Parts: sequence; structure tokens; C-alpha cells
Amino acid sequence: MNPQARALARAGLHSGAGGVYQDTHEEHLHHLLHYSLLTPVTRAALSRFNPTGKSLSPRAKTALRPLVTIKLYNTKTKTKEVFEPLDRENVRMYVCGPTVYDRAHLGNARPVLVFDVLYRLLRHTYGADHVTYVRNFTDVDDKINATALARKEAGAEGTLEELVHERSDETIDWYHQDMDALGALRPTKEPRATEWIGAMIAMIEDLIAKGHAYEAEGHVLFAVESYADYGKLSGRSVDDMIAGARVEVAPYKRNPMDFVLWKPSDDELPGWDSPWGRGRPGWHIECSAMSYELLGETFDIHGGGNDLQFPHHENEIAQSKCAHPEGDFAKVWMHNEMLQVEGKKMSKLGQFLHRAGFAGQGCAGRGDPVRDALHALSQADGLD
Ligand SMILES: [Zn+2]
Repeated sequence: MNPQARALARAGLHSGAGGVYQDTHEEHLHHLLHYSLLTPVTRAALSRFNPTGKSLSPRAKTALRPLVTIKLYNTKTKTKEVFEPLDRENVRMYVCGPTVYDRAHLGNARPVLVFDVLYRLLRHTYGADHVTYVRNFTDVDDKINATALARKEAGAEGTLEELVHERSDETIDWYHQDMDALGALRPTKEPRATEWIGAMIAMIEDLIAKGHAYEAEGHVLFAVESYADYGKLSGRSVDDMIAGARVEVAPYKRNPMDFVLWKPSDDELPGWDSPWGRGRPGWHIECSAMSYELLGETFDIHGGGNDLQFPHHENEIAQSKCAHPEGDFAKVWMHNEMLQVEGKKMSKLGQFLHRAGFAGQGCAGRGDPVRDALHALSQADGLD
């Protein structure tokens, strides 16, 4: 057994023709291979009885059912559940992506690799063309603004928004280089927040119209008391949150836990025209708006780091469920543990991947040290 195979075996993962996938029973491995051989033949045979290529009969669908069972730990229900996609033709997953202000750090690699394994497993099970994986780039951020503003003041040409875009382009390129070097597949879609501002404004208007948000001093805030299930994912009550809040509360908030959907921008900040004046969206609304536009009001899996459970994911749920009460937002919530160094979050340490000298040394299947180390852990293990 080579070192990578050993590391994968420790984590209960196997590497095969279709990539790397998690496998609970030897039997499943057999079925996976069996299915991958049979499917094209079965599909071809079925297509003779279904020349229009439209929807298949229930019997045909049963014949196409893969024999593998995927079990996922769902943070929402706190249990391990058998995964059954909403639509086997289009299994949909959203993972919160990075804020692209600088080089990727080791902590950024963790969710990328955890969800890369899941993405490969889903592609292997349902077919590579039947999985949609969306991971966003947050390019509305104070640190990106600061770099763009410094360049403008140093005489760079272009508007502040153009310079922000330019800085994000640079960091997205680096991110792609580093994650490609780790052997992670790129998601199906990688939306950038700045390209979906219109969808965010539409969702905020809808939330105001439905009584879940209000405008105050150029800001738009989400009213947490308007959503009874607020706090359910992370298991907190609004009262506990207020008691635990250390930040000074803005006077225009009706409830200290109300969070920003839109905020005003001055001349030194990028901004977009909106019904509430020139401004920019809050961070949480971008994932709700982009997942709705690209995956619909209900989709299969929502993933991200454990540190995003509160407030980010709690806020995403509140926004999405209130804007689209007919939908269920994400059926399964999955959270990976953090990478830490002496108890400190990686993102705070500036341990950039490229400086760590790992990225580019190897590639998937040939023993990349970072990939091996991260894969040797299950999704739920912390690493210090
Ligand atoms: Zn998000």
C-alpha cells in the first residue's frame, strides 16, 4: 500500500477509477464498480424503449437506481441519514467559498478537500453530469476594498469598483492555482458576489415586503424576531445570543441580533445603486441570493466550515426561508471541523498555502502531503 492509500484507508476512503470515495462496506465497493459498468448498457437499452429521451417510467428508474447507499451526518437533525437526492438527474450542493482578499491559507484547503471527496462520491454515484456543485467567491469585503483604495490613491487607473474587481481577479487566480495543485476538482459554478448584486437587491425588497426586514438610516436589517426558527441550526435562543453578544449595538436596530442585509457606502467604498441609496450588501445575503438563483428554493446539501454555523448559516436559513417559505432551503447541512495551530484558527495566522511550500509539490494520486494529511481525518475531526 502506498502512503496515500494508507492515509485514505485510515480515513475510511478508497481510491478507485472514479476518483476517491467514501465506502462503508466492501459490498458497496463492488456495487459501485458493478453499477459503473452496467449503467451505460442499461441506459442504452432503456433509451430504445424511450426514444423521446423524456422522463423514464418508474420501472426504468428503479432499474437505474444505484445500489450504493450514502449516509451523511446532517447538522440540522444531528443524525446520520441515508442520503436521497431531491432529483437524481440533478443533485445540488452549495458550499460557502472563500473571501478573496489574499493568498489561500491552509485552513481554506480543509472545506475544499472535504467537499471534493463528497463531490466525487456524488458524481460517481449519480453520474458526473448529474451533480451541480456551487461554491461562491466573496468579493465584497473591507480588505479587498482597502487594497483597491490604496492602489487608487497611488494613481492606479479605473473606478474603485474596477480596482476591486482587478484585486479579486488576482486572488481568485491564486486560489485556483493552489486548489488545483491539491488535486481538487473545480465546482460546476463559482459565482462572484459582485456579479449577483441585482439578485440580492430583489431578495431584500422581497423580505421587506413580507415583513421580515426594515430600513433604518440607509441600512436594511433582517428582523430576527420575525422568524420563529431563528437559532435552530446552532441550537441557540435569541435571548442567549443577546446575553452573549459583546459588540456594541447600533442604535437603529430594533433587536440587537438583527443583522445587516444592506449598508450604505461612502465615496471611499465600492457601491451599487439600490432603493435605499448607494451601498453594498451584507455578507450573509449573497449565499441566500446566489443559491436561490443557481440551485432553486430547495436543494440537497449545504456545506461549509464549522465556524460558519453561527451566525452565517443561521442567517442564510432565516433569509432564504422567509423569502421563499414554500421551499425548504437545504435538506442536509454539513460542517467540517477547523484547522488550528495551538488553538488558533488558521485564517488568523497568515499561514499561506504557497508559502507553506506544499501546493504544487504533488498532485492527486501521487501523494500530495497536504491532501493526504487532510484526508486522513474524517470531516468531523479537528486538527491542531
Ligand atoms: Zn455562505
